[in-house]
Amino acid sequence: MTEVFEPFKTEPYSDFSKPDPLKAYQEALRQVRSELGRDYPLLIGGEKIATGKWIESYNPCQHSELVGRAAKASKELLEPVMTAAWQSYASWSKLPMEHRARTLIKLAAIMRRRKFELAAWQTLEAGKNYAEAEADVAEAIDFVAYYARQSLKLAQPIESYDYPGEENTSFLKPIGVGVIIPPWNFPLAILTGMTIGPVVVGNTVIIKPASDTPVIAAKFMECVAEAGFPVGVINYFPGSGSEVGDPLVDHPQTRFINFTGSLEVGLRINERAAKLQSGQVWLKKAYMELGGKDALIVDETVDLDYAADMAVISGFGFQGQKCSAMSRLIVVDEVYDALLEKFIAKVEALDIGPAEDNARVNAVISQGAQTRILDYIAKGKREARLVTGGEAGSDSGFYIKPTVFADVPEDAVIAREEIFGPVVAVLRAKDFADALRIANDTVYGLTGGLISNDRGRIERVRQEFEVGNLYINRKITGALVGVQPFGGYKLSGSNAKAGGPDYLRLFVEMKTVTEKF
Ligand code: NAP
Ligand code: MG
Repeated sequence: MTEVFEPFKTEPYSDFSKPDPLKAYQEALRQVRSELGRDYPLLIGGEKIATGKWIESYNPCQHSELVGRAAKASKELLEPVMTAAWQSYASWSKLPMEHRARTLIKLAAIMRRRKFELAAWQTLEAGKNYAEAEADVAEAIDFVAYYARQSLKLAQPIESYDYPGEENTSFLKPIGVGVIIPPWNFPLAILTGMTIGPVVVGNTVIIKPASDTPVIAAKFMECVAEAGFPVGVINYFPGSGSEVGDPLVDHPQTRFINFTGSLEVGLRINERAAKLQSGQVWLKKAYMELGGKDALIVDETVDLDYAADMAVISGFGFQGQKCSAMSRLIVVDEVYDALLEKFIAKVEALDIGPAEDNARVNAVISQGAQTRILDYIAKGKREARLVTGGEAGSDSGFYIKPTVFADVPEDAVIAREEIFGPVVAVLRAKDFADALRIANDTVYGLTGGLISNDRGRIERVRQEFEVGNLYINRKITGALVGVQPFGGYKLSGSNAKAGGPDYLRLFVEMKTVTEKF
């Protein structure tokens, strides 16, 4: 069979040590800078609504700088947005899959043309340096391009056996209106993937972006409009999670909830979604992709410089604010001291500064995050040995110095709770078996890794390391769409496996029709 579209390929990354990409990125930053401080209304159906209340979004690296303001939704707008989404569902859900898939191909092309501009918005709104910001946009484009192709597979006839005297057919149908609740840490990639997956198979959605990054979400909506999605298919509904979150989840017309964020909020949504509301005639589907306490194990069989490099990238990329970030470094006793020394030296060599200047380590997302991380650091100082960092950086932004605690006891708070910042706990294990036991001794199970040259140990972690995404002999962050389907085990979530071959199946239901002749 000939394919409708070219085969999927992930987006390439730029090399910012070369003058041309560097110049182009800085030009994009200048352009974006000239557009700072604008207002972005809600988008409900085709209508732009300014509510008179605003979510203000500031640059985390320069917190006096207003990136933009997004209109703040209130509960009163819930009925209009639900109605708009269901109205467009009536026609969008009936389109041929190819029609919707082509709209995605166009969206991917538009986002590709605006790649550096979309990345530059993240540099200023989320504090991502050039490579981190570009990787986020590349992932967003990959989700769109990949799901466009995957959707066509779901349009194929479903195999079933014949039965004498009957015709039997099964086919997949979209399920209805969903609420999309993304986090701020991959403000374009995760938002795009969580939205476009359900949408390509015929659902319509209401996006409630994270309050720290509503402007990049508004930029996504510009791309959506340009790609020609009918109005009301994707609605933009920024608002405070604590004000409009529960009402969106509880609404009897909400058919599914696609959530990525913290364990605490995820558990709350999961519970509320399970409760039947008056007038509700379906079970709500609720997909919860949650936090992690991700560990990298290093044993005595490897090059310790390489192991330390992988630990630094995994622990401090985007200031450790990745669900996949290494927050526990577990080292076998034999090489513990030697590895720790190399690790500290490399962490201390990281430069800290504004994302706009492309420093390796930038500010954390908000004042709230900075305070929370500093609280954990204070606990760490009581529980373990601080070896580097341990304090805020320059106060023009929400900086925290890359922080390492050594000799962290297994039961320490900083070894058990997700900190979500540039803080790594180093734990000593007796041997490899002990290291694996420690790694698995957590409620989470998102990512994990092993640096080892021992084939027996590598085979063992393949089976016994309880994580959804396991990396051997490399960094434990940076999953690629279509290459490493992403999603965790245990309390890290529902294992939705974003960017994987089964993801779209979560947003359709199968209908089976039997006709007797
Ligand atoms: P968060 O605080 O849980 O917020 C996530 C989203 O939920 C935001 O849009 C937030 O809105 C909203 N929200 C808050 N309260 C709500 C409620 N009662 N009902 C409905 N929605 C509500 O998480 P975050 O700080 O943005 O993100 C960091 C977390 O995400 C970390 O735990 C990280 O590990 C996890 N994460 C997981 C994955 C994965 O794939 N497993 C990927 C990335 C991140 P407001 O912004 O308005 O509060
Ligand atoms: Mg901000």
